[in-house]
Amino acid sequence: MQLKIYNSLTAEKEIFKPILDGNVGMYVCGPTVYSNVHLGNVRTFLSFDFIYRSLTHLGYKVRYVRNITDAGHLTDDGDVNNDRFVKQTRLEKLEPMEIVQKYTVDFHKVLDMFNLLPPNIEPTATGHIVEQIELTQKLIDTGFAYESNGSVYFDVLEYNARGLNYGELSKRNIEELFANTRDLDGQGEKKNPQDFALWKKASPAHIMRWNSPWGEGFPGWHLECTAMSTKYLGETFDIHGGGMDLKFPHHECEIAQGKACNGTSPVNYWMHANMLTMNSQRMSKSTGNYILPMQLVSGENDFFEKSFHPTIVRFCFLQAHYRSVLDISNDAMLASEKGFTRLMEALKILNSIAPNDEKQSGFSLEDWKTKCYDALTDDFNSPVLIAHLFEAVKFIFALKDEKETISAKDLDDLKSTLNAFVFDVLGLQNIEENNNEKLDQTLQVLIELRNQARKSKNFDLSDQIRDKLLAEGIELKDGREGTTYVLN
Ligand code: AMP
Ligand code: ZN
Repeated sequence: MQLKIYNSLTAEKEIFKPILDGNVGMYVCGPTVYSNVHLGNVRTFLSFDFIYRSLTHLGYKVRYVRNITDAGHLTDDGDVNNDRFVKQTRLEKLEPMEIVQKYTVDFHKVLDMFNLLPPNIEPTATGHIVEQIELTQKLIDTGFAYESNGSVYFDVLEYNARGLNYGELSKRNIEELFANTRDLDGQGEKKNPQDFALWKKASPAHIMRWNSPWGEGFPGWHLECTAMSTKYLGETFDIHGGGMDLKFPHHECEIAQGKACNGTSPVNYWMHANMLTMNSQRMSKSTGNYILPMQLVSGENDFFEKSFHPTIVRFCFLQAHYRSVLDISNDAMLASEKGFTRLMEALKILNSIAPNDEKQSGFSLEDWKTKCYDALTDDFNSPVLIAHLFEAVKFIFALKDEKETISAKDLDDLKSTLNAFVFDVLGLQNIEENNNEKLDQTLQVLIELRNQARKSKNFDLSDQIRDKLLAEGIELKDGREGTTYVLN
């Protein structure tokens, strides 16, 4: 089985060869934590969660690093009034690190709701200022960067003059970039408009600031990711991911910084996830065309007819390939809900199927498994994988109707393979089972309260609890071992 990955750098599907056999180092750009993540952001993180789960399922030992951009995802002009962190601190009347904490907690809650696994390392930009200063110094020492008025810029023309190619990832030509730029960022400080900040001098009003050899300032956004990925994954690592929109300038600059610092390409496989759209327009806070995850899950919005469980949202996202645009709509969500229900029904049926070793089955389990793994290893093709899972669903319904048979060995294999794909790889959750667990926990609380009422001789209350539950079809039974319940 060979894993193929589409590499944005070469624009080709390539056979994946990890640096260290059996191991994968993967870095994904994390969120800027100055406000709540919208559903579009969730799609990108979910795409990489699926990739992480798939790599693990395929037997790789993955070190997955996803950072938190907490130092300020700053505008290159360094104007404090354009800094989104600063704006938010003023708006909410909070300290910058309070803003960071508030939205980091929210980010984790949201990803947990969609059953995303945590990364192995989650470094913060502010925790790596020393490393960023060191990298900046190294770039100055090697002539790739220059100081200007307390700020330090990467010299893009110098980089190209040394035979390197700024623009190799985004396929931009440096001459065109110069010709088309109307960017006045750092005007007067930079040698060229395309030069980007490695370190920015802090104006007196700037709150997040650190000492450096160039005076008080703060790091450039692109350098944060280079510092953290190098520290935890090395000068060259296997996979770097992020949303399509980060290709330029963010990832282009990361390549330039890595090559200039270490003389080697920092990443072997660049992976970019495509955008979530709504009303056929990219979801984005700045245009107002967005929905927050909680609004979709609670039903408190004007766009969707009803509320949807997070796992249905997850299923909907995975029905599109990570490199395709996905337009979220009421119809798409309803279709996903229907498909998901059928899939769960099939899994339930599978537990009650009796095997038959006498008859030959018309369904080749081996062929089916091969097709599933071919889809998974073909650049993580989740929609094709899901289509194959539904072939198994069809077969399971035929088993139920006794139109098909399955041997005992194949039945075990089908159960474990299907469960692994549905729960471990796709990361879906069985809503019904979860609900049952919740019901059980709630009933245990009520039984405990009834026991307390009885102990304090409040028989009115204890009888009320028993009778009201009975009216709802839940019968409490008192025995020597304690109280149990029966659902009628
Ligand atoms: P940010 O916090 O703005 O850096 O965004 C976090 C991640 O969400 C980045 O990888 C972005 O590329 C990604 N992203 C932003 N908007 C969308 C969208 N509409 N659909 C999918 N991913 C998005
Ligand atoms: Zn990044």
